[in-house]
Amino acid sequence: MNKLAKLDHQFVWHPFTQMRDWLKREPVVIVAGKGAVLHDIRGREYLDANSSIWTNLHGHNHPRINAAIRQQLKKVAHSSALGLANEPASILARELVAAANHEIYDIRYTIYESYAKPPRKSQIANRKLEKVFFSDDGSTALEIALKLAYEFTRRARSAGVSPASRAKVQPRFLSLAGAYHGDTVGAVSLGHIDLFHKSYSGLLFKTDQVMSPYCYRCPFNRAKPERADAREYRKCNWECAGLVEKKFATQKRKGNPYAAFVFEPLIQGAAGMIPQPRGWLQRVTEIARNHDALLIADEVMTGFGRTGQRSAGVPPARRKEKFSLAPGKRDACATLFACQHEGVQPDFLCLAKGLTSGYLPMAATLTTQKVFDAFLGEYDEFKTFFHGHSYTANQLGAAAALASLEILQGKSSICARQNLEKNLHDELQTLWSLPTVGDIRQVGLIAGIELVRDWRTRKPFDLRERAGIRVCEAMARRGVLTRPVGNVIVLMPPYCTTPKQAGRMVRAVFDSVREVFGKL
Ligand code: PMP
Repeated sequence: MNKLAKLDHQFVWHPFTQMRDWLKREPVVIVAGKGAVLHDIRGREYLDANSSIWTNLHGHNHPRINAAIRQQLKKVAHSSALGLANEPASILARELVAAANHEIYDIRYTIYESYAKPPRKSQIANRKLEKVFFSDDGSTALEIALKLAYEFTRRARSAGVSPASRAKVQPRFLSLAGAYHGDTVGAVSLGHIDLFHKSYSGLLFKTDQVMSPYCYRCPFNRAKPERADAREYRKCNWECAGLVEKKFATQKRKGNPYAAFVFEPLIQGAAGMIPQPRGWLQRVTEIARNHDALLIADEVMTGFGRTGQRSAGVPPARRKEKFSLAPGKRDACATLFACQHEGVQPDFLCLAKGLTSGYLPMAATLTTQKVFDAFLGEYDEFKTFFHGHSYTANQLGAAAALASLEILQGKSSICARQNLEKNLHDELQTLWSLPTVGDIRQVGLIAGIELVRDWRTRKPFDLRERAGIRVCEAMARRGVLTRPVGNVIVLMPPYCTTPKQAGRMVRAVFDSVREVFGKL
């Protein structure tokens, strides 16, 4: 075994990994990367088909991001945000605010897709995201939103009530079935994946869950399985949205309306790549708003262009044309956040993963002036938000994020994303011929392929059979790296992936499924 692999075996404990299995075989030791390709210590090449657990945007070793970090390194790597401001973080905060808000002003002037009504002015008034709280990763971005929403609501509901009633104010949160928002204790409390979360129930605070729109396995969907994305052929009456309304109404009757609704917009990741049918997000966030709940959008996975470019009319996957705009520096029309696809303006926008294009751990929680103001006061009122991390607003991370944002908003990156989305869509169609492929769901540059015993029955594999893991292991032998979520194979390529590379990724899924389940 290679020397570094031995060291790993001896000393490193890997996340979300059964270490007994890990220790049975020599690990792939990555030593370099370029674009969508990773190189290991034995000189083998792999396509990074899940963008290094959904973080990388523009590819590895990107010259512009490398240069931005080197430039910053010449000045200073890190100084604390507790008591000090710094150059790249201040600029980054301004840029994030601009990127998160431009659509609320544009939206009234754009042709709106037929499935979604343009948002009413009241829905977006006072919802401008104006303040940025930096932290380290997706979990901390959520912890911060959670604490801010909790305290904002507690203060608002405590105003003018007796001290006895004040003590009873216990803001409560609603999130989606199968939700995953990170692994710190607060973020785990918002989550609803028993496999990950149940053991820690004694550590957690109580939150509620509501049905998420998993069309492929929805009990309300009366359609028989077809060889198409279940969202397209579903037969239902939006019962899932009805359940959201019911949940909010019931909680209101209990005298403690939900403080906030927490959701991943357009697609839930770790839940199993569960995409929402068009219009769902707008419907349920309107219900939440009508019940005065704050909206916490977890765009840790979906942010920074992952869910594709918004376009009027035809969904991108169905468009025929290729895009070939001349490369330019910036294009203000980049759709960077999933919420923007449905004209939803949250009160909290949680960002991490792609923020630095997969270079450095950094996160941001954006919120409104109204929330910010609730924490203002005289020093001795102790209204301060008592929360912070040592590496908050780190300069190297901020420099990488600024370079990444500039690339993202350039026309050539927008075109590359649109083309990759179309390529991926076309390639994925080949997988329908496999009887163990039950559903293929794509949202922008995210694809989930759900493996089943037989597509006609939708019968799932038992998790103990490790169907997803076995297929991903077979893919790795073919030089394509990704990780499954349960029985769902994930393809989430870096934006620089070429058509040929996208073809190789899908071909690896095809051949590996055939290897694992036979040629049926
Ligand atoms: N939210 C979502 C939607 C995620 O997908 C993840 C990570 N997969 C997190 C939060 C937690 O992020 P991190 O691992 O950076 O803490």
